Amino acid sequence: MELTQTDLESIEKLEQVSKQLLRYFGEPAWFERLPAVDELICTILSQNTNDINRDKAYKELRQRYPTWEEVRDADPAELQYTIRIAGLAPQKGPNIQAALQAISEKNGEIDLEWLKDLSVDEARDWLVNLKGVGPKTAAIVMVFSLGMPAFPVDTHVYRVTGRIGLRPAKLSVEKTHEYLEAIGNPDDFGPLHLNLINLGRQICQARKPKCAVCPVLGMCDYPDKLFN
Ligand code: SF4
Repeated sequence: MELTQTDLESIEKLEQVSKQLLRYFGEPAWFERLPAVDELICTILSQNTNDINRDKAYKELRQRYPTWEEVRDADPAELQYTIRIAGLAPQKGPNIQAALQAISEKNGEIDLEWLKDLSVDEARDWLVNLKGVGPKTAAIVMVFSLGMPAFPVDTHVYRVTGRIGLRPAKLSVEKTHEYLEAIGNPDDFGPLHLNLINLGRQICQARKPKCAVCPVLGMCDYPDKLFN
């Protein structure tokens, strides 16, 4: 990707925002690194639900089916019943089984470590070809489980980076993944992703951003800041 003068300014700004968020929120608590397949399935379960219900569904799933082969070959209705607390079970169940089937067919075993040998774009392309896996899920698996320089963009990251002016205003969510990967420091991707989510959840909320207490107020381009 060729960088413009504006992009170069965004590189500088992203670095400053990253440092400021680290000062404000601290180093994010690093959750235990899951193997890539586990992270993939857990992230599929997390779509359109909260962390509590995702964790409950994942726990139920692992207790009912101790191996991924058993999940892949499970009775579909029984699997959907097992993960129902995560919501959208009629979609998530088949997507999980299709993903596990595709992974098995690739190398004869249910493992994704081989993705590390690919470029970020190649690995992302392979993952997003799985039904129910979008760029965000792919990036989460890559950065947190495989240690690859991918930048996950969820609704909070997308909103906050747009308001602060860390990306072109009209860039799509999909393109924002690639843009932040191009302008960011790969060592920061995991902590920055988590701290941008913290900022979005706690301060830069969709309807009522709390600009008066925002740690990046001085760097933010958003024209409709709220101070009460
Ligand atoms: S100053 Fe306001 S709009 Fe900008 S990032 Fe902070 S909370 Fe969001």
